[in-house]
Amino acid sequence: MKEQEGVIKYQLHHTQQPIGHPFSFTEINAWRTIVFRLGLIGQSPEKYANIGFGNISQRLTPDSAQFIISGTQTGHIEQLSPEHYCLIVKADPSKNLIQSCGLCQPSSESLTHASVYAHDSKIQAVIHTHCPEIWNHTAVLKLPHTTANISYGTVEMATAVEQLFQSDELTQTSLFTMLGHEDGVVSFGRNMQEAAWELIKYLSLAIGIEQQCNTE
Ligand SMILES: [Zn+2]
Repeated sequence: MKEQEGVIKYQLHHTQQPIGHPFSFTEINAWRTIVFRLGLIGQSPEKYANIGFGNISQRLTPDSAQFIISGTQTGHIEQLSPEHYCLIVKADPSKNLIQSCGLCQPSSESLTHASVYAHDSKIQAVIHTHCPEIWNHTAVLKLPHTTANISYGTVEMATAVEQLFQSDELTQTSLFTMLGHEDGVVSFGRNMQEAAWELIKYLSLAIGIEQQCNTE
């Protein structure tokens, strides 16, 4: 199913003002740049009608339900500044509702991030990337996934993510693919580094499969 990337599908109550909470952007921003350099967050005329793709988030504090996420349409920028992020003040995936504040609006996929945080308080970081290598090898890598009839940023996606957490599928693997969202991959962890490592680990396995196929 083809769909347009970057379109906000949830009900958004956004306050256009600085985040107003102390937060260090150093770690999230460094990892954001690494993932950008890998081409897993970005913007390209050859992909998705030149609309920015991928986003990254981190809990505001370890015990908070609120999280910081990269803003919508920032995919083309290699190094973000604090004003490119916003705070998700409240998210209700079941009602398709987001309340946010910041100098830019939240990523169109904030609801999916919110569903991940809601299911495990230990999760501190979430990265949504577009990675054709991992996505295409979902079956071979036996990856947890949401099905092809579920598109991003919907209540159905929130429900599907909930089901993944309720099954045993995400106990060994901190990554799932979204088969209804072209190239869509979500990884998460107890910190930014863990979320990024899981992504890079599966990227290496996927590239390994492709290289093996090419040499046979
Ligand atoms: Zn996406």
